[in-house]
Amino acid sequence: MKCKKCGKKAIAHLKAYGIALCEECYSDFYIRLVKRSIKRYKIMKKNERVLAAVSGGKDSSAMAAVLKELGYDFEMLYIDLGIGEYSEESERTVKNLSEFLDVDLNIVRLKEYGFTISELRRKWRRKTCSGCGIAKRYIMNRFARENGFDVVATGHTVEDIVSFYLKNVAGGTKIWVEKLLPRNEPFDEKIVARAKPMFEISEKENMLFVLIRNIPFTMADCPYAPKPEWKEIIYEIERRKPGFSKNFVRGLLAKKHEFQEIRHCSVCGEISNSDICAFCRLRSSVGDFHL
Ligand code: SF4
Ligand code: ZN
Repeated sequence: MKCKKCGKKAIAHLKAYGIALCEECYSDFYIRLVKRSIKRYKIMKKNERVLAAVSGGKDSSAMAAVLKELGYDFEMLYIDLGIGEYSEESERTVKNLSEFLDVDLNIVRLKEYGFTISELRRKWRRKTCSGCGIAKRYIMNRFARENGFDVVATGHTVEDIVSFYLKNVAGGTKIWVEKLLPRNEPFDEKIVARAKPMFEISEKENMLFVLIRNIPFTMADCPYAPKPEWKEIIYEIERRKPGFSKNFVRGLLAKKHEFQEIRHCSVCGEISNSDICAFCRLRSSVGDFHL
């Protein structure tokens, strides 16, 4: 197979886009893809100070490398969760990444707060990941605020978002909307904005990029990670319907206004999801009511 752009030997066939690309053209394509989605969904602004949360995995390593490539002003944050060898391997990796990219790395150890995830595991058992999630969000937000960052960027991929959505819908749980949006603005002065620059990008696309560019990452998996059943279901759908995940998140965003916080109409004061409620807009469009 030949590269669609330059005719050299293709290394990847991107079914979701229906094109094959060589190493070089793939990197350009990938960087442009991330750049475009950051811009289209206003995920980050150029003048913001960004704190990129990195774990050593391919997705956050790819994110840090692209942010560097796109000229963002950012530093990295690694949270040492105290999960034995897994944490040690992850820490070695993010240190290499920091050197490789020439970007500052900050390390916060959960132990500073008096416990580790391995200790939490003994009490929380199957709920370890939700406890771990609480700890990570707390530390990311607090560190970012105390150190003057405007936004925390995480490496969530399109599969993370789709699997979160499907899992919750299937389980009958109320969807925690914040997790589905590419950017969350703070609703309190103690909260720092959150961004997911990779929310439209797939794990496979990240993997190709880190491999081609020799970006440090680790394949080590957290020993407490649950079985990736939902991810496997998504890979299977994707195999049959290339582009499914990307279309899915775009569809979710098209419905974004339904998820947003409730506001009040500036005209009549009733509940509204925009500045002026749908009823006032309706009245003004047909009657003699003027906005
Ligand atoms: Fe934390 Fe491991 Fe669960 Fe990830 S898989 S949330 S690192 S305990
Ligand atoms: Zn090419």
